[in-house]
Amino acid sequence: MSGLRQHNVTAAQWSANGGALGPTDLTIPSNNVFGELVFSVDVQRQLLPKDVFKKLQTTLADGKPLDPALAGSVAQAMKEWALEHGATHYSHWFQPLTGSTAEKHDSFYSPTGSGGAIADFSGKELIRGEPDASSFPNGGLRATFEARGYTAWDPTSPAFITPNPNGATLTIPTAFVSWTGEALDHKIPLLRSMDALSKAAIHAVKLFGDTESKRVFTTVGAEQEYFLIDEQYYFERPDLLATERTLFGAKPPKGQELDDHYFGAIPERVQAYMFEAERELQRLGVPVKTRHNEVAPNQFEIAPLFENSNLGCDHQQIIMQVLKNTARKYGLVALLHEKPFAGVNGSGKHNNWSMGTDTGVNLMDPGDTPSENLQFLFFCTAVLKAVKKHQGLLRASVATAGQDHRLGANEAPPAIISIFLGAELSAAFEAIESGVPVDAGEAGFLGLGTEVLPKLPLHGGDRNRTSPFAFTGNRFEFRAPGSNMTVGFVNCVLNTIAAESLEEMATELEAKLEGGAAFEEAVTEVIKAHYVADKDIVFDGDGYSDAWQDEAASRGLLNLRTTPDALPELISEQTIETFDKYGVLTEPEVEARFEVFTEQYVVKLNIEAETAALIARTQILPAGLKYLALLDEVPGEGAKALKEEAEALVNDLVVKIKALEVANTSHPKTDDLIVAAKYLRDDVLGAYAEVREIADKLEAIVPDDYWPLPRYSEMLFIK
Ligand code: ADP
Ligand code: MG
Repeated sequence: MSGLRQHNVTAAQWSANGGALGPTDLTIPSNNVFGELVFSVDVQRQLLPKDVFKKLQTTLADGKPLDPALAGSVAQAMKEWALEHGATHYSHWFQPLTGSTAEKHDSFYSPTGSGGAIADFSGKELIRGEPDASSFPNGGLRATFEARGYTAWDPTSPAFITPNPNGATLTIPTAFVSWTGEALDHKIPLLRSMDALSKAAIHAVKLFGDTESKRVFTTVGAEQEYFLIDEQYYFERPDLLATERTLFGAKPPKGQELDDHYFGAIPERVQAYMFEAERELQRLGVPVKTRHNEVAPNQFEIAPLFENSNLGCDHQQIIMQVLKNTARKYGLVALLHEKPFAGVNGSGKHNNWSMGTDTGVNLMDPGDTPSENLQFLFFCTAVLKAVKKHQGLLRASVATAGQDHRLGANEAPPAIISIFLGAELSAAFEAIESGVPVDAGEAGFLGLGTEVLPKLPLHGGDRNRTSPFAFTGNRFEFRAPGSNMTVGFVNCVLNTIAAESLEEMATELEAKLEGGAAFEEAVTEVIKAHYVADKDIVFDGDGYSDAWQDEAASRGLLNLRTTPDALPELISEQTIETFDKYGVLTEPEVEARFEVFTEQYVVKLNIEAETAALIARTQILPAGLKYLALLDEVPGEGAKALKEEAEALVNDLVVKIKALEVANTSHPKTDDLIVAAKYLRDDVLGAYAEVREIADKLEAIVPDDYWPLPRYSEMLFIK
């Protein structure tokens, strides 16, 4: 057997080290591990002095600032609990604008002054940390305001233990802020947007007669897609190591054409991995629920139950971390990149989003009574209006280098933002617009001023996978976010723009009511006016079709194909105005995000291009040359023909590599980040694509054991 084939046989081996988990008898209460590593409300109830616990809970429920006097007691209890769980360190855990998480660890031990040390953790240490933050991207914020940033305890997201084979760390979710109060992270704007949405939504539900609800919570359930490949291949590929995507690789004879992977039987090794990853997540209180194979070979999905947005977004980060960590125990690597392999589907993260009152009403659920239905349609219209107005911002909120391979590539929603309502909901809106009942049998269900609505609720089964923003029965599903993204910013945008349109519509309705209008008529009028004004954003057809591109253009919808096209939407006048008006982001904070995201794009593409040049010159070109040398030794016409073929490719490759190297060192000198980004997108990526095209052709003719990189056919199919 050739060395290469032996390689694959080795890669296919795995041992069920996680097999030690064995089956669990969940009828025995102590076997239920859910939340055992979390300083949860239940744990707090047990460990905190009664009055402290009570005060803390009321503060949290009302969304009020925390009384610093409470922090000391909480820190004390948290430390005791953490020590019992084997923690020796604590860490403030936060989400800088890079999109990943950051942490700084401190030991609990403080010297006593007499040569010893005691475990110590004060309220002050709980509340505030001072990471040396100067190296985090901040889009000039700290330069403008203050040199340093600090982390601040977020008591609404419970602390947890991060286990490690050699110890454990008490991990405290925190916000990351400059000394002058500018948000340097994704958590603060998210929290602010939840407040803004709550205010606007409470205003609206009050008009509908809800006098009990005090707060409206937004919710998120994010379905995470990912690839698993054997770690051996990962470490053999410098492109995967540096960029998490394959920069080279010929299309394998078998890809996803047979449609035999989606929802197929999960391979044993992968399932063993999933059991362990999910168990870890459950211990951390992450409510993971669903797992299945995805469309591409070796692609999978994990979905949690939805939670309030802040917790859901923190848990999303934990999911990504645990997926990565656990994979290594099974000899696998989890790839979260949006497009690790050309030619098969990439990975997204469907962001299911809704909002509900603290009295338990899901405002995106049609409900059982006429007035609930009308309220639901009011909220739905607000979403429609928000998405129409801020389609550019929404597109920008999911714009990253990885995403440019996915959006608009017939595998993920197009770059055009539109809303899918489904037949039933569309019919309801059309009825409101025309005043004509849809269905004689069910019509009159409302029996109100309108008498036109069909009986809701609607069926989530009415699906359209090609829509970026779909109503799915009791929530909206924003399908455009990428698998590698933090969903904090996306949800911040959704909440803010919904707050704005809700507030506008509620104010209009209020004015009508004060003017003496009848309730149902007034609501119907408001819904109708906004539906008619903004219904161009509704599209229930095939989002992948060319016809939609034309249709969308004629409707005047934006089609921002790439990241440099989309990101300027972040700093458009209306974006800045909306964020500012609802107290979510100040203008400098918005600009900082624009700068950081654009810079990330530039840096990521630059890393890809330099990695590609290096691989092409030092691995692929030598393989081609070796093949030429081999052919030199072989006499005969056949060899001659082969040599001509190979020589042409190799010569071409040399030229293209040189061109890429030149592109890599000729970045324009400019302060305009978008100009820099467009240079990378057009010139650099263009030069890289030409190198890849030839390299992939060479892969198909160079002798197998000369080829330096694991192939798609190996990485994608050996499990
Ligand atoms: P599908 O793949 O058909 O979209 P899944 O079961 O994989 O369905 O995922 C559905 C996701 O939607 C889950 O994460 C679920 O928790 C989430 N979800 C359900 N209801 C809500 C809601 N009210 N708010 C936010 N997310 C929700
Ligand atoms: Mg799903």
